[in-house]
Amino acid sequence: MSLPLVDLHCHIEGAAPPDLIRKLAARNGVRLPDHIFDDDGHYRWTNFQHFLGAYDVACTAIRTPQDYYDLSYSYFSNAAALGMIYGEVFISADHGANGGIAYPDMVQAMAEGLGKAREESGVQGRFILTAIRHYGIEKCEATAKQAHRHPHNLVTGFGMAGDEHFGQPADYARAFDIARDADMGLTVHAGEVCGAHSVRNALQALRPSRIGHGVQAISDTNFLRRLAGEGIVLEVCPGSNIKVGVYGTYAQSPIKCLQDAGVKLALGADDPPYFHTDIANEYAQVQKAFSFIDDDMRAISRTAIEAAFCDEQTKADLLGRIQVSP
Ligand SMILES: [Zn+2]
Repeated sequence: MSLPLVDLHCHIEGAAPPDLIRKLAARNGVRLPDHIFDDDGHYRWTNFQHFLGAYDVACTAIRTPQDYYDLSYSYFSNAAALGMIYGEVFISADHGANGGIAYPDMVQAMAEGLGKAREESGVQGRFILTAIRHYGIEKCEATAKQAHRHPHNLVTGFGMAGDEHFGQPADYARAFDIARDADMGLTVHAGEVCGAHSVRNALQALRPSRIGHGVQAISDTNFLRRLAGEGIVLEVCPGSNIKVGVYGTYAQSPIKCLQDAGVKLALGADDPPYFHTDIANEYAQVQKAFSFIDDDMRAISRTAIEAAFCDEQTKADLLGRIQVSP
């Protein structure tokens, strides 16, 4: 029986395969510089700064709501073909606005793309409205307000991505309060490249139920006890960590140590084509690196669904599809 996969941490623009980005660029008359692709047509970058640069340049190809439809359909249908039953994607109103796309149009197009993939494969998904930390406090609060101004039944979470070194989590407390007031599930990127203090401060100031990455928390045993005690779920993206140089191999990711400390975790592919991975590969590599049996991987999928930003009925339906052996 194949494993039912769940991805709780993936950015829609970062999930765009290079071929799709080239197609959108041609359709929109955007000339992309050759240096962002290698000879095989994959994204080319060598360090974290180059990665961010290539990502931003590739995003300039995205100009219309139809493009977001294509991104959404491509992501959900491809991941479903790999065995994904549920995925949450980060959507950035700022990236949409950079391409001249109004937020409600972007969400509508994303919803239609997911709807088509769901019709074909049964895959389920939700969207996480995402502020960009290094765009500053005002922009993050403006993003959170979109949740009130343009509510949508598939936009069920609010998150913050971007440069973890920028500002302090407390600066963004108001943005998270605004989103909390709109009944959004909350997650924040922290403890990817900065240490345990970054996760601790984010948890203290913003009170999310999930942390994006969070793996650096491993260096603070007392704090791990708190994460475990409060049932905070880490969205761990080991392939992404390896490609940006946080760890050398999957086996060096602290996944097993976190679990042994009682910390709950789910998996994510983050920006799959940039990191030469996908959610099936993340599951497979983690299983191999830690000699996990299939039921260990199903337990990760169950944790992810329990932590998902979706309604109870959808959770119950999805949990019914993840049977652990008696
Ligand atoms: Zn991320």
